[in-house]
Amino acid sequence: MWFFRSPTIVHGEGALEHLAELRGERAFIVTDHNIQRAGLTAIVATYLEQAGFAHTIYADVQPDPSLEVVQRGAALLAEYAPDWIVAVGGGSVIDAAKAMWVLYENPELDLEAISPLLPIALRQRARLVAIPTTAGTGSEATWAFVITMPGNPPRKLGSGHPLAVPDLAIVDPYMMHTAPPRVIADSGMDALTQAIEGYLATWANDYTDGLCLTAANLALDYLERAYRNPDDTEAIEKMANCAAIGGLGYINSMVGLAHSMGHALGAIFHLPHGRAVGLCLPYVIAFYASPARPAEVKTRFVPLARFCGLPHADEASAAHALAERVRALARAIDQPLTLSEAGISAADFSARLDALIDNAMNDTVIFASPRLPSAAALGALFTCAFSGLSVDF
Ligand SMILES: [Zn+2]
Repeated sequence: MWFFRSPTIVHGEGALEHLAELRGERAFIVTDHNIQRAGLTAIVATYLEQAGFAHTIYADVQPDPSLEVVQRGAALLAEYAPDWIVAVGGGSVIDAAKAMWVLYENPELDLEAISPLLPIALRQRARLVAIPTTAGTGSEATWAFVITMPGNPPRKLGSGHPLAVPDLAIVDPYMMHTAPPRVIADSGMDALTQAIEGYLATWANDYTDGLCLTAANLALDYLERAYRNPDDTEAIEKMANCAAIGGLGYINSMVGLAHSMGHALGAIFHLPHGRAVGLCLPYVIAFYASPARPAEVKTRFVPLARFCGLPHADEASAAHALAERVRALARAIDQPLTLSEAGISAADFSARLDALIDNAMNDTVIFASPRLPSAAALGALFTCAFSGLSVDF
């Protein structure tokens, strides 16, 4: 038995107008200061007013939202008692809103203790609408959230609950028009990585394959255009769709090793999520397809490469073509290809390598990887990603 979870998705030009159709009384808008300054929350508030809502705004969410920001937001939710939570922002904002929502309805719950298998209360007090302003995490379509936990080093808690999928996702390309090119590049690499990892994951299934393939193709075809010309409305809309479609795909299959490595890099070196996972992806593809892999490792690079219009004679050549295509795209949008290029010094890398390995090995998203590394292999993978060496183990 397996489940497919999805919000209702309203997409395309003018999708935001659907907000005026919401029925309720009190809306709690979760956002960040940049989005608020760009005037995007004001547009959302106008539609909510048309629908007769009283509303308030919590704009303190920062990139890689911390437990403290989530707990403070949950306390404000309890005070304001909204019947709708409206998340307006990128993945960090939407993730924080989901975690706040869970705590609002389950005040006694420890976020670390959430398990997808344990019952929680949701929708007894409020529902959630997610309005993405970047095309990347696909958080608007998923029930996952990543919160940075305090500690030394800090740790990213990848958590979530199947009930915590937004009720409604409004994917309106207009809401993405203020995203700067660097954000388009970083978040687009996340969308691409999620789509590819979602297709390769051992939990992939008939319901997720088409979504992951379509999302991978959209990113390969449109990310460079969206990065080069933020006025290219077709490319921006295609990337918006790519993120939500890929989110739907991967959340119902899983991601893999590039995400566990990326979470560790984000927590320890504060690399933006999409930059970190996108940088790791070609190394992870090479690791999955390595001739040195155990015989029981099964991959699906041939159908993936074929769908993306790449050479696909056999698994090894298809994987190589895919990794090179990902690298070419990353280069075209000025992304670093190694951790060294990403600004991490050799001394810092060596000093934190054990923490990176430990962090990534204990990340729950690692489990559906088609090939699981030993701690030593993971250290070697990080080292290849640091210096750009090829993966042959
Ligand atoms: Zn991601």
